[in-house]
Amino acid sequence: MDTKVKTSNHHTDTSHLRVNGERLWQSLMELAEIGGTAKGGVCRLALTDLDKKGRDLVTRWAREAGMTVTIDKIGNGFMRRPGRNNSLPPIMTGSHIDTQPTGGKFDGNYGVLAGIEVVRTLNDHNIETEAPIEVAFWTNEEGSRFVPVMMGSGVFAKAFTLEHAYAAKDTEGKSVKEELERIGYIGPEEPGDHPIGYYFETHIEQGPVLEDNDKTIGVVTGVLGIRWYDCTVTGMEAHAGPTPMALRKDALQVATRVMQEVVACAHRHPPHGRGTVGMVHVHPNSRNVIPGEVKFSIDLRNASDADCEAMDADIRAVADRISKETGLPIRIDLVSSYPAQPFNAECIEAVRRGAETLGYSHMNAVSGAGHDAVYMARLAPAGMIFIPCKDGISHNEIEDAKPEHITAGCNVLLHAMLERAGG
Ligand SMILES: [Zn+2]
Repeated sequence: MDTKVKTSNHHTDTSHLRVNGERLWQSLMELAEIGGTAKGGVCRLALTDLDKKGRDLVTRWAREAGMTVTIDKIGNGFMRRPGRNNSLPPIMTGSHIDTQPTGGKFDGNYGVLAGIEVVRTLNDHNIETEAPIEVAFWTNEEGSRFVPVMMGSGVFAKAFTLEHAYAAKDTEGKSVKEELERIGYIGPEEPGDHPIGYYFETHIEQGPVLEDNDKTIGVVTGVLGIRWYDCTVTGMEAHAGPTPMALRKDALQVATRVMQEVVACAHRHPPHGRGTVGMVHVHPNSRNVIPGEVKFSIDLRNASDADCEAMDADIRAVADRISKETGLPIRIDLVSSYPAQPFNAECIEAVRRGAETLGYSHMNAVSGAGHDAVYMARLAPAGMIFIPCKDGISHNEIEDAKPEHITAGCNVLLHAMLERAGG
């Protein structure tokens, strides 16, 4: 590997550099104690007292590693290790430390603590980089307590305004602004007023593909685009007994045909097509009444916006055909959509080279879930590193990852960042 990093008086070959996996694991376990649940998970919702404790601990570790900490107005934290040339935009990594109510130890937390471990490793070996290195934690990535998800990185990337985020309320009516003030995490910096050279994020895969393929590193090429729809099939309620089969307008029978087609549609758009019906409302939902109306959700995903468009056209055409065949109206309304986000080729290759140099098995991967890196990719060249998680499970207290994979992903991060920040 041609990563030569200048120190003050000589060139250092950093290809043999490795992070301290045990120290990283210890930090992950220590952070997981804040909000730790009986089942071994973590409940540390955004902007709660526990979130404050988590933030305090992470920023303390950063300061102990010689980093400076700045906070912006939406509570995003930037922990900075200076470089030789501090006019260069920082090479940044990061993720989030808030969790789902029944979250795990690794989702998000790994990405932040891996960044701190990179800095600790550079400190251990007295390695100075040309560009500064920064580790960010983004406010309210999970969107569990406050909507929208990926709030801090979204405000930073100007996907929506600070005022919009501030006004979001939890179920008790407490706003983001009040809660940020209460925990003392409204900083002076204007969100987005912060240059980024390159952005890398390490994350557990949250899916089963790496484990299924027995690979250590996922070289993430992009994040799937998402289309959310509400579908309504309108029939006619009638008594289940006196109404003969030929004279019915059974909305559920027609709806189930469309539901099957949602899945079939995903199969028609491989390899990254996804189709899910996760929510169904049957009216009147009574045992002896022919269903008069069925509403259900459709979640379609694919790796490019063109593929998402094709799936949109596909499911609408199929629904039209089923409607004509059955005589029942079928309405499909788009309720939200998120564009697909391909990652930067340089970043993808930096991750791949890192995995190759380190001798880790690897494969291309796409992310089916949203991440802060999606917003960063709008601002700077960005990429992600995935590691396997047990059975592909996350957003669950049983979420688990192997220490050797945790270490491997962090080593890849170290080398990808050094390559970008180096000499
Ligand atoms: Zn996450």
